[in-house]
Amino acid sequence: MKQVLITGAAGFIGSHLCDRFIKEGWYVVGVDNFLTGSLENLEHLLLNQNFELVEEDVIKGLEWEGHLDLILHFACPASPVDYLNFPIETLMVDSVGTSHTLKLAKDKRARYVFASTSEVYGDPQVHPQPESYWGNVNPVGPRSVYDEAKRFSEALSMAYHRECGVDVRIIRIFNTYGPRMKLKDGRVVPNFIFQALNGQDLTVYGDGSQSRSFCYVDDLVEGIFLVSDVDAIKYRVMNLGNPDEYKIIDFAQIILEKTGSNSKIIFKPLPRDDPKMRKPDISLARESLHWKPVISLDEGLAKTIQYFQSQLEDVE
Ligand code: UDP
Repeated sequence: MKQVLITGAAGFIGSHLCDRFIKEGWYVVGVDNFLTGSLENLEHLLLNQNFELVEEDVIKGLEWEGHLDLILHFACPASPVDYLNFPIETLMVDSVGTSHTLKLAKDKRARYVFASTSEVYGDPQVHPQPESYWGNVNPVGPRSVYDEAKRFSEALSMAYHRECGVDVRIIRIFNTYGPRMKLKDGRVVPNFIFQALNGQDLTVYGDGSQSRSFCYVDDLVEGIFLVSDVDAIKYRVMNLGNPDEYKIIDFAQIILEKTGSNSKIIFKPLPRDDPKMRKPDISLARESLHWKPVISLDEGLAKTIQYFQSQLEDVE
């Protein structure tokens, strides 16, 4: 049986990956320290005989007795609010933590997939962003704790590939949404939906002219699975995201329509170094993996709104 170790298994994307690999017949070792992840995301797997949960902080080290075919390093606070709350942990998990996971991949001769981000492009001056773009990152600004840690991890991964022959794959994940996002992680999708469902004002930062492109989690997971599973990878660095781009002000309006909310839109200061635009160029994934997102914003938002509604009912 093929075995995969997934760090950040209790997170939004990590937990969906656990489900997917189990569905494909793999044995999954899920590692998490529950800094930002939630046990609720994994509860349905705890009695599954092909799943094992290891509560561990990969910053402190990572050992595993059995064989491993694949390691997916997804542990990291991922929303701007979370990584600004945990700046040191963010830098450490994507430096020391990456080092520990890469060393394990080398020792086990396992394939290694690193969860990078569109944030490596910073506030981009090239639009849409292809993998060949080197980015525009403020190395000392507040977001640098995330951006530079991810950039360092990319460099370390490539060093392990070049020096030690580890079969490394780096995926740059663009804005993703869907069930299991935390209601209060501060990102725009949960914020707007939470506000709309609760009759609160929708908080648009800046004038809302900045853009983002939103990918439903199932599409992303399909892409990650393909990147992880294919034997000969053509491109070691690959963008995964949905190129459908929206201005944040228009996105707020869409959420109001989809939720049938009477909430108002109000404007708040734009966070420092907030990227003005973001849209993935997914030509490489299309060409080499025949992957593209297939879930429309309509369908994805319907599922996400339903999820947040049920979360709110649980709280009541
Ligand atoms: N944003 C907003 N209101 C919110 C939360 C976020 O206008 O309540 C904006 C934020 O300034 C950014 C975009 O929405 O321009 C996406 O923010 P998010 O935190 O989801 O992720 P980012 O793409 O910045 O990492």
